[in-house]
Amino acid sequence: MFELIDLPYGSSELEPIISAETIALHHGKHLATYVNNLNNMLPGSGLEDKSLEEIVACATGGIFNNAGQILNHNLYFEQLQKPSNDNHPVGKIAEAINEQFGSYDDFKKDFTTVASTLFGSGWAWLASDNDGKLHVLQMPNADNPVTKGLKPLMCFDVWEHAYYVDYRNRRPDYIAAMWQILNWKVIEQRYQL
Ligand code: MN
Repeated sequence: MFELIDLPYGSSELEPIISAETIALHHGKHLATYVNNLNNMLPGSGLEDKSLEEIVACATGGIFNNAGQILNHNLYFEQLQKPSNDNHPVGKIAEAINEQFGSYDDFKKDFTTVASTLFGSGWAWLASDNDGKLHVLQMPNADNPVTKGLKPLMCFDVWEHAYYVDYRNRRPDYIAAMWQILNWKVIEQRYQL
């Protein structure tokens, strides 16, 4: 049985970038529903003893969709912290970003294009391969880089439920604001694991 994760911050701590109302809906309703759905679907599936990553890598249909959305949202919520105007990558992930993209600003530009041009529901990802090389990916619906053999490092949820309460239809404004609340220490730890 999977459980709804506890957030590593209070529900109003991401304001004004993400409101307490969005957190209550996004974590307390959307993510909780994915957890309940998966727990109802797993018995008899043969996947009961697998980790979330293993399920996402091999499942299809409803189990894939719900497990993928749990994994995606756990990665999303756990990489956030209270806003800072002077927020930037640290350590090895900062070095890799500068080396591969030229600068953090160039990386943000590339990632923003990928996140804003995704049609419909889905996710923008920063992921790494076995050689530590970084990849920026646009993935629809519940998909996650583990389905391509990549390690997920950082993500923006661009499903409308992630931003509609706070930004209405203005997805680009949500994407531009998200950089202030990324916890790069958490993202770097994922990169080094
Ligand atoms: Mn979401």
